[in-house]
Amino acid sequence: MTTHIDNAALQELRQGFSGEILLPEAAGYDEARKLFNAMIDRRPAIIAQCDDVEDVLAAVTYGRRLELEIAVRGGGHGVAGKALTEGGLVIDLRRMNGVSVDPDARTATVAGGATMSHLDRATQPHDLATTGGRVSTTGVGGFTLGGGDGWLARKFGLACDNLLAAKLVTADSSGWPATTCWPPSW
Ligand SMILES: Cc1cc2nc3c(=O)[nH]c(=O)nc-3n(C[C@H](O)[C@H](O)[C@H](O)COP(=O)(O)OP(=O)(O)OC[C@H]3O[C@@H](n4cnc5c(N)ncnc54)[C@H](O)[C@@H]3O)c2cc1C
Repeated sequence: MTTHIDNAALQELRQGFSGEILLPEAAGYDEARKLFNAMIDRRPAIIAQCDDVEDVLAAVTYGRRLELEIAVRGGGHGVAGKALTEGGLVIDLRRMNGVSVDPDARTATVAGGATMSHLDRATQPHDLATTGGRVSTTGVGGFTLGGGDGWLARKFGLACDNLLAAKLVTADSSGWPATTCWPPSW
């Protein structure tokens, strides 16, 4: 599917965007659209490799304005390939992979594109761990959204049982930081 990309709108998106915007002719485009499941072969019109939340907000706003189908890419392990869209906009979170650990509270704050290896590397020096994917390149975000059954599940439950709160970019991109807390008192 070929999607017409409005140049003026694209220029607007590029202004102030700190990450990288890849169109099909760009070097790195094919590499960026590879998923773990190599049977998925979709060609997005735009891949927005976001550096921070402002980039994500800009990309969501752009996609909505142009009525593009939007896909969000974390670790790219989803077998059905929902991290890619044919002819639409991919919001690629892989550059947003920071993890900070609060050893006293025994919590970790994980950016949307971090993988299990980012999480494990940050928590291990504190002798902390939680239920994580069996393969270290799995995205923490996608894993947790799907429930997340890993090595420590029999002791600590699923990854989603250990999720305390999430900051969300909403579809109307107005809500940052829309924070959902569980339990509500947290
Ligand atoms: C080799 C392999 C091993 C696996 N092992 C396990 C296992 O041990 N236990 C288990 O429970 N599952 C396992 N899975 C399944 C895997 O956890 C899920 O497919 C999970 O959804 C992958 O997340 P991802 O971020 O890597 O993938 P992606 O394909 O990037 O994302 C999956 C879905 O989540 C969405 N998403 C991802 N990150 C975000 C975010 N930050 N914000 C909003 N939406 C987001 C994407 O849009 C997509 O719809 C495995 C999969 C593979 C391929």
